[in-house]
Amino acid sequence: MNIDSIQNGVVIDHITAGRGMKLYDLLGLDKLDCSVAIIKNVNSGKMGKKDIIKIDAEIPVNLDVIGYVDPGATVNIIHGGELTEKRTIEMPETLTNVIKCKNPRCITSVEQELDHIFKLTDKAEKVYRCIYCETKAK
Ligand code: ZN
Repeated sequence: MNIDSIQNGVVIDHITAGRGMKLYDLLGLDKLDCSVAIIKNVNSGKMGKKDIIKIDAEIPVNLDVIGYVDPGATVNIIHGGELTEKRTIEMPETLTNVIKCKNPRCITSVEQELDHIFKLTDKAEKVYRCIYCETKAK
């Protein structure tokens, strides 16, 4: 695909350099059939370097995941070659089934069908904790 001219799709811009791959993984973009491009270490005036993800399809992206990985990112929806929507990202209060608790003694390790839920407990420090065992998310 021509990464500069998406006709219909989603562009996640202003990703902190180095977080593009993590976002790609957590958004499950590897499971898509359409073209997805990750452009790393793009020179950006105000941020120094940034990553960009371009998805060549109009798919719903999980804004909670983006807010968790990188609340400074922006999401642009492209339709008919035009920018039709710009979404601002906020850190979500809760994360459901985005990340897994790493505590081997956590009930979620035993009860496989339980949802993995994390709550934002410290916004300034960006700390999320498991609601079951209070283990901090990495
Ligand atoms: Zn836990």
